[in-house]
Amino acid sequence: MSSMKVCTTNQALSSSLESLKASDSSLGFVPTMGALHQGHVSLIQKAIAENSLVVVSIFVNPTQFDNKSDLETYPQNLNKDIETISAIGSDKIVVYAPSTQDVYKGDLSKENFDFGGLEHQMEGKHRPGHFDGVATVVYKLLQIVRPDMAYFGEKDFQQLQIVKKLVSVIGASINIIGCPIAREPSGLAMSSRNKRLYNNERKHASKIYQILKSVEQKFETVPISDIRKWVQAQFENDPYINLEYFEISEVSTLESAVTIAPNKKYRAFVAVFIRDVRLIDNIALN
Ligand code: AMP
Repeated sequence: MSSMKVCTTNQALSSSLESLKASDSSLGFVPTMGALHQGHVSLIQKAIAENSLVVVSIFVNPTQFDNKSDLETYPQNLNKDIETISAIGSDKIVVYAPSTQDVYKGDLSKENFDFGGLEHQMEGKHRPGHFDGVATVVYKLLQIVRPDMAYFGEKDFQQLQIVKKLVSVIGASINIIGCPIAREPSGLAMSSRNKRLYNNERKHASKIYQILKSVEQKFETVPISDIRKWVQAQFENDPYINLEYFEISEVSTLESAVTIAPNKKYRAFVAVFIRDVRLIDNIALN
């Protein structure tokens, strides 16, 4: 049996960190909404490699869901998540699995942050209030955990950029580390929501990454407007997948690219629906 510490309150977490944290130690933090998969595990492993102690939070944040049924159907299984984390076999991990009350203290209002426009692109356009909810909970969790380093996946690249901005806006000295996207053998980006796909839908879902790979190939040789049209046509040809948006954007502003500027980095971003399951993915283009 693992002796991994599982704290369900802010207070229990603080006292357990107090007893475990050596004065010169570095504390890593991996926030998650549970339903853990190998993508989460890769973040936890990186945090373990780079810190003397790691807090993994498991908390389905109600304020970041713009869609009620998405929140209600979000997969939750704390015991299974604890098993997944125990299987990593590290004695450096403390799990923080709080109640909504413990995090929000009865006030579920979202703070309104100004992230200089990052929050209005892509996910911000299509999920109103989503990033206010994300930033609100990340801010609260950072205050509770007080880490030196926090790990976020490039799977949610816009979220990663917004969290980096949040930390600079609040003037915290926390290193935000972006981690590569973990994928299924088919190329499908791992996601807790993949559990909701039927087998035939999963097969179609692997097309998302194939299309992104083709976009990577076309970038710098095919005009961006033609790439957009090509991508739209690919998704229109698939009866299982409904494209919500496709964007090629510059990574620091996340503004939609019209032309390619030298010395700038670009990524392609996509959001689709398969039935009512919403999936996002992205890829570096240069
Ligand atoms: P979530 O539980 O979906 O809120 O995700 C928690 C963290 O894991 C976020 O920083 C995500 O970006 C990251 N994450 C989720 N899926 C993946 C993946 N396939 N590869 C890498 N990181 C991921």
